[in-house]
Amino acid sequence: MEQDRLDAVLARIARIPFRARFHLRPPEREYVAVRGMDAVRRHARELIDTRLGPAHPAKDGRQTPWGGHPVFRGQHATATCCRTCLQINHGIPKGHPLSERQRAYVVDLLCRWIENECRAP
Ligand SMILES: [Zn+2]
Repeated sequence: MEQDRLDAVLARIARIPFRARFHLRPPEREYVAVRGMDAVRRHARELIDTRLGPAHPAKDGRQTPWGGHPVFRGQHATATCCRTCLQINHGIPKGHPLSERQRAYVVDLLCRWIENECRAP
């Protein structure tokens, strides 16, 4: 998805105080600096496929750690942490496997958030 549209979604989500609290912490920034965005994007896709993609993900609502990987941190910041948050904040209904397009949307959104965080001072 285009960066302008991703930034518009991110701006909307950032108006939710709970979401706006989340930022990358030094070890997560370091992770991005060392591994690079290609690796982070690959991990994002793997994590979304396994933890969010199925129609009924395991432990849905509790499957996303608060941090440790930049993608996990980003999932809380962008309201892509579980299928309920995805439904409420992104209009993606629960109970069916995520489509290719929906997976790509979540990954693009997460990577854009992470890139924006890394650019911030
Ligand atoms: Zn959630």
